[in-house]
Amino acid sequence: MDTKYIFVTGGVVSSLGKGIISSSLARLLLSRGFKVTIQKFDPYINIDPGTLNPYEHGECYVTDDGHEADLDLGHYERFTNIHTSRANNITTGRIYQSVIDKERRGDYLGKTVQIIPHITDEIKRNVKLLGNTGKYDFVITEIGGTVGDIESLPFLEAVRQLRWELGQNCLCVHLTYVPFIKAAKELKTKPTQHSVKQLQEVGIQPDILVLRTEKEIPASILRKVALFCNVSVDAVIQSIDVPTIYEVPLTMHSQHLDEIVLKKTNTPYSGEPDMAKWNKFLEKLHSATDVVKIGLVGKYVELQDAYKSINESLFQAATYHDHKLDLRYISSEKLNDANVEEQLKDMNGVIIAPGFGQRGIEGKFVALKWCREHDVPTFGICLGMQCMVIEFARNVLGLTEANSTEMDTKTPYNVIDLMEEQKSISNMGGTMRLGAYKCKLVAGSTPAKAYGNTEIEERHRHRFEFNNEYREQFERAGMKCVGENPETHLVEVVELPDKKWFVGTQYHPEYSSTVLNPNPLFMDFIRAAIENKK
Ligand code: GLN
Repeated sequence: MDTKYIFVTGGVVSSLGKGIISSSLARLLLSRGFKVTIQKFDPYINIDPGTLNPYEHGECYVTDDGHEADLDLGHYERFTNIHTSRANNITTGRIYQSVIDKERRGDYLGKTVQIIPHITDEIKRNVKLLGNTGKYDFVITEIGGTVGDIESLPFLEAVRQLRWELGQNCLCVHLTYVPFIKAAKELKTKPTQHSVKQLQEVGIQPDILVLRTEKEIPASILRKVALFCNVSVDAVIQSIDVPTIYEVPLTMHSQHLDEIVLKKTNTPYSGEPDMAKWNKFLEKLHSATDVVKIGLVGKYVELQDAYKSINESLFQAATYHDHKLDLRYISSEKLNDANVEEQLKDMNGVIIAPGFGQRGIEGKFVALKWCREHDVPTFGICLGMQCMVIEFARNVLGLTEANSTEMDTKTPYNVIDLMEEQKSISNMGGTMRLGAYKCKLVAGSTPAKAYGNTEIEERHRHRFEFNNEYREQFERAGMKCVGENPETHLVEVVELPDKKWFVGTQYHPEYSSTVLNPNPLFMDFIRAAIENKK
């Protein structure tokens, strides 16, 4: 069958959950046996979000092939259970870079290089890149930003042209917002009408409208939207707030989103999507009553998106262990010896978050010391693992000025140091140790038992590493290096085996945890945290 292209745009406001709608549609089509991929086109000029701080753009997600990506790719993987790659996330910056490179090579043969057709052609080429591999029945493309933004225009023009070229093999889903005005006790559709009009102005007629709402939208209002927006009534769907994002595939299916897509793209289908495993997960989620309480020590406490994949990994693991997750954000900037007991004493387990730079670092050491001395299950991720090493050096090995050279270039005890290959790097974008690398685990260690394997592969995003010159000293005092890269011997995992659960990973296990395939280390950490309750 021809590859079908589905575009997902958004209007009225941002943060409506285009990523979740795209992921939910992908989940339903996959569960019907189709081959599906999702890609995100972001209109900003950065080459990738790797240089953006979390206040700008939430978590930076990392793909297997080492691309620093938009956090929506994390949703795509969590919902579809399929790994994404560099090709799944394109920005305006990458489009322009490629066009300018071609211009310098002389590929345009003396032509004036313009937004139309050169930029739009480059966008179209990228939209079709995954589809042209012949591996997919459906390519879902989420267009970042909101219709009406100046920077989205070339993308929308490319979508308009593709619709014309692809005919029935192409479809547009537009997501809008229907606010409820409390004082008037009314749901308002005008913003939706305006946003559809804006799409129509650039030549795109949406085929399906998904209306995000906090209140049930009555059929009469859905009919009105259909009438004003030239969309068939059955293709106006509401997306009402649900307790978890993982229920959205079901709310979409109950309004036949998948079938509408299949019908409108002339795709033969029969029966229902097989959601058995997904529903099993939701059943566990709904029936859980016991609570596991996890403290996440990091500097972005007011910013939930900063640790998105960690939150979701914890949530998935808690659900599979039939527990509700009570996740508390603990500001590493505010933690000190005087308040640590108060902040951590009720936690069944503690996560020490990844990060960069000095801010909040001392609080992480305070938390780690307390957790180690009180034998609380503790999981350090990336910078969190590096902090585990530094805290141990300072308080157990007696190297009181131990540090990472990231925080103190002149530390006499550089237990965490810049990787050799990083020393000559000056550009910040895309130059960390990124993506999936192999790790060999020591048989019998906590991670080896958790994974049920001594050879694993997880994703990375760092410049600094455990300094192997100190390895023996750490191991003699009880901190074991239980995972390393088989080629370079870079330390990937440290553990205090005499504790209930005290593990730090240089890699980011949170990037690979999905609903259908929760990460084994998160599963084991939550198991230990639940056991710690008793
Ligand atoms: N800042 C540390 C490094 O670059 C840790 C990075 C992280 O936590 N992702 O090595």
